[in-house]
Amino acid sequence: MVMINTVTGQVNSSELGLTLIHEHMRVRSESVFVQFPHLYDEEKEFAKAVAQVNKVKALGVKTICDPTVMELGRDIRFIERVSRETGVQIIAATGIYSYHYIPPHFQNRDIDYMADLFVHDIEVGIQNTSIKAGFLKCAADAQGITPDVEKVIRAAARAHKKTGVPIMTHSHPGAGTGLNQLEILTEEGVDPSRILIGHTGDTDNMEYILRVLEYGSFIGMDRYGLTSECSTENRNTTVIELAKKGYADRMFLSQDHCCSIDWYPEEVPGLMFPKWTMSFVLEEIIPELRTSGVTEEQINLMMVENARHWFEGNNQSTNLSNTKIGGVEFGIPSRKQHESN
Ligand SMILES: [Zn+2]
Repeated sequence: MVMINTVTGQVNSSELGLTLIHEHMRVRSESVFVQFPHLYDEEKEFAKAVAQVNKVKALGVKTICDPTVMELGRDIRFIERVSRETGVQIIAATGIYSYHYIPPHFQNRDIDYMADLFVHDIEVGIQNTSIKAGFLKCAADAQGITPDVEKVIRAAARAHKKTGVPIMTHSHPGAGTGLNQLEILTEEGVDPSRILIGHTGDTDNMEYILRVLEYGSFIGMDRYGLTSECSTENRNTTVIELAKKGYADRMFLSQDHCCSIDWYPEEVPGLMFPKWTMSFVLEEIIPELRTSGVTEEQINLMMVENARHWFEGNNQSTNLSNTKIGGVEFGIPSRKQHESN
């Protein structure tokens, strides 16, 4: 068991419950917000986030991981406010979301400088608060691994090594960046079982997905409702096939929903993606998966247990070095033992 930072304090990893692994309370182009704040309506955005979170709370969700970091307009007080209003545990992230470029502030400093800032968010607090990040986030998209992107990935790895919190990525399967991220992160010494390669479900290329899984990482089937990269039907077919192959213990189902996002005119996301809500997986996808033979045990892994394993890690032995009593190790059983129980 490990203690996890939520925006309202620490919780035990056994208390996560039904978890949505990748949802955003709000996404803003942060430089636009800083320069043109009159474009934004804080209370309207708050009401939208509360409505989505309350809806999934009514469906049983206890925890949401919100990977909104630098360059996505992270505002930790906003996330905290949504959590307090709804009573749903929200776990915030630290890291940088960039497809190609980081500001000169970071270009002219080294990887460890950036890693130390991520560690600060995890151990001291975010944006001059005492609210701490619970996981790390980095990204790589169609542009591939640019020097700036590589710097962020390595900094995330080093902050993970210092703090033990897991790493979530934004990847672009079409460009193969999930595999690139795994290469770099494992080169830095990260155990793949602490890595979640986000957006792997954006492809139905089984050969690629299996190569990612071979590393031993988790994968995000986490953009249900976003149909531009992959249709809902194809996303389901892939999840069903992977569950049959025994990979339910490696997959997360989520929507990457943004309760508000300023990347497009306000009405556009709803018109383009009418099913893209925070409740789509619970209301429609899971019933469909059930009908297609995905078992309750597999659903429980994807929606409850995997989150715990991602936060705890496969190999607990390093954390249990002080708990050896009479040569017997006490603590969390290994993954294999978990599953045979
Ligand atoms: Zn996202």
